[in-house]
Amino acid sequence: MKVLKFGGSSLESAVSIKLVSAIIKHEAIQQKIWVIVSASGKTTDNLIKLTQLAHSKDENYKKELKLLEHHHITICKGSLPISAQTSAIAFIKSSCNAIEQLLDAVYWLEDLSPKTQDKIISFGELISAQLLEKIVSQNIESVQYKDSRELILTNSQFTNAKVNFDKTNATISDYQKQNQARVTILGGFISANKNQETTTLGRGGSDYSAAIYAAALNAEILEIWTDVSGLYVANPKLVKQAQPIANISYEEAMELSHFGAKVIYPPTIKPVLDREIPIKIKNTFDAQAQGTIISNSSNGRRQTIKGISHVEDISLLTLEGIGMIGIHGISKRLFEVLANNHINIVLITQASSEHSICVAIAKENCRKAEQLINTIFKNEILEHLIQPITVENNLAILAVVGDQMKNHQGLSGTLFSALGRNNINIRAIAQGASEKNISCVIKNDNVKKALNCIHAAFFEAHIKELNIFIAGVGNVGCKLINQLQQQQEYLKEALNLNVKIVGIANSKQYYINENGLDNSDWITKLSEQKVDNDVSYYDAIADLNKQNTIFVDVTANEAVANSYADLLRKSISVVACNKIACSSEYTNYKELKYLAKKYKASFLYETNVGAGLPIIKTVQNLISSGDQITEIQAVLSGSLNFIFNEYTNGELFSSIVKQAQGEGYTEPDPRIDLSGKDVARKILILIREAGIPIEFEAIKNNSMLPKGSLEAASVDDFYSLITTENEHFKQLLSEAKNQDSKLKYVASYKNGKASVGLQFIPKNHPFYNLEGKDNIVSFYTNRYQEQPLIIKGAGAGADVTASGLFADIIQIGSAS
Ligand code: ADP
Ligand code: ASP
Ligand code: MG
Repeated sequence: MKVLKFGGSSLESAVSIKLVSAIIKHEAIQQKIWVIVSASGKTTDNLIKLTQLAHSKDENYKKELKLLEHHHITICKGSLPISAQTSAIAFIKSSCNAIEQLLDAVYWLEDLSPKTQDKIISFGELISAQLLEKIVSQNIESVQYKDSRELILTNSQFTNAKVNFDKTNATISDYQKQNQARVTILGGFISANKNQETTTLGRGGSDYSAAIYAAALNAEILEIWTDVSGLYVANPKLVKQAQPIANISYEEAMELSHFGAKVIYPPTIKPVLDREIPIKIKNTFDAQAQGTIISNSSNGRRQTIKGISHVEDISLLTLEGIGMIGIHGISKRLFEVLANNHINIVLITQASSEHSICVAIAKENCRKAEQLINTIFKNEILEHLIQPITVENNLAILAVVGDQMKNHQGLSGTLFSALGRNNINIRAIAQGASEKNISCVIKNDNVKKALNCIHAAFFEAHIKELNIFIAGVGNVGCKLINQLQQQQEYLKEALNLNVKIVGIANSKQYYINENGLDNSDWITKLSEQKVDNDVSYYDAIADLNKQNTIFVDVTANEAVANSYADLLRKSISVVACNKIACSSEYTNYKELKYLAKKYKASFLYETNVGAGLPIIKTVQNLISSGDQITEIQAVLSGSLNFIFNEYTNGELFSSIVKQAQGEGYTEPDPRIDLSGKDVARKILILIREAGIPIEFEAIKNNSMLPKGSLEAASVDDFYSLITTENEHFKQLLSEAKNQDSKLKYVASYKNGKASVGLQFIPKNHPFYNLEGKDNIVSFYTNRYQEQPLIIKGAGAGADVTASGLFADIIQIGSAS
């Protein structure tokens, strides 16, 4: 025979109950079954809420009870033919009346004992089981409801009663001897003491009831039907990539559930383990899915790590003091006082110096524990041998579990480096003596990120997820998004990178989709977002707290550049084509590099100089391999090179500038190019990369623009002004022609001095034939003294800039 247990999620609505009914019918054709049920949906939570309302003299318990009644009547109406509805509805109403009378008593007496609480919350299972019996009887003959309080016998520890197994097992088998029903339906969670008073087995206890029945009946299997397809490697609601575990041992399942995999209630395992009855976790909503088998034989793949689980809302208590060293009995007193007061310790660590002991407990016990411990060590505290206990809240315990862990070195290294890389601070660590588990305490806020990055480290070693947030969706931004999206499959296959664009922003609004932007309509989605959001884009990125987050700045905006420091401090990598940060004060530039190092994030800006050309990387490689740069000669403005290459016959200079802007070769404000400011920023960055501290003001700018044009109030005004200055540019051009030269805007550095300006480049010079919007840089170094190291190629344009950004992103992804 089989025992099937259906959880609250499987009984939440008429639709899910239909599925349950079908599963029961299918099973009952093959053998006799016992069906154990939880209360429907969140009924137990709601009943607890009602008792608290009544106890606190809040009359709203009446209204809330009506909602509960309505919830169950809706299920009746959706699951039963009209002919059967009247009696079912009457049953629900009379049950709710009984609940109301108990709540009224709590309200008037202002007294809520654990005994009364149990009496009230038992109605969740009493109603759901009897209702299910009425529904299932419509399709199957021989269905019997049995009150669990007649079979599971406990002590009188209300709300968390202990089972008397001898009596319980005997009563169940006596009952079964005379029970002819094909399907027996019972409420889980509820039981009774020797006075026939209602007790309960603790939250989540329906699983336990089912295991008790399965063991007493010596069932061939215990099936736990829930809303997920098995026990997963990590909670599938938090880790999208997680997969169900096909086979797992009792011990592993126990460790996982102890640390929060609530799909199964830890004490459940014990009764079935003793009789070696396997447990199968199945999905009511996908009955065909394979599910998980928990048994003695862990005949699945011999994986070292079986799963990762967590418990939230943990408090960490630390007892510290010099008086603890070498003194026997301190820990005994600490643990005793907690045990005597039923405070469960979830994790313990002790420094080897014995100078401190840390215990993790559930948040709700923290106040009480603090008082108890401070009282028990009152004398030591007065004598300053021990400090009053310190308490940290809002923490979570994360546990990595597996039978095979003891045979493998380096697992904790992988675990802690995954957390460290993602800036997740670990407050305490413990390794179970069984070596089946390594647990650590982290902040509640970091749980989702931690689960995902540990999951990635152990289970997706071959695929790394990068979460990209883009600021700026102009020419270059759009190209970058297109390139990333087009290459997505290739990146997965060839580089094992799952590159997800999670957020995009323009100067007014942002759009975030945690699962990644879909290919099509992100422009519309962005424009539909709220302008002036309460939460800034940067805060929204930090709040999402994703692993391997990369912020890509595709703007030319100062405020965006000012955000890098904070992002880096949160271990968010920054990729920028925006030059403002790297060309700001030297101290700021240095600080950003320092922060990147400190917080293990990357700060990459290859596109600051020469768009996609590998110029900055080359300088960094030269320097890190011990070379020194002595001289730089360069044409670093693709836009100016384009303009002077086009300007050969004295046509209107302003229209060539306009054309360059239209093609996306200039900065959004072309004056930044024409004034030489952009080139000055680039040479400044190169000199800094060469290891030389220098400020922007130290770069001599021999501007070629007629005075006044730079002071124009707007870009339009600027265009009208240079239209009137055509003669000035014509003269420059004819002078160059007379000298058999071409006009090139050159940046140079030598002997600590740097300058930018227009030069007449003669025919034999390597810069003379520089085409279109190309850039060229010559580096003279200790190693390249005679012939310079030259890098040349397209140095402007949306496509090449986007691919430079792309390359920086991939560089971050490929780093370990
Ligand atoms: P039921 O109502 O069936 O008792 P529960 O809500 O108690 O269901 O347990 C099922 C839930 O357990 C899942 O919906 C899932 O969110 C959560 N869960 C936590 N960790 C895991 C895990 N490792 N594998 C599967 N589910 C998990
Ligand atoms: N209904 C009880 C609870 O919510 C028992 C259970 O569902 O397992 O805790
Ligand atoms: Mg449950």
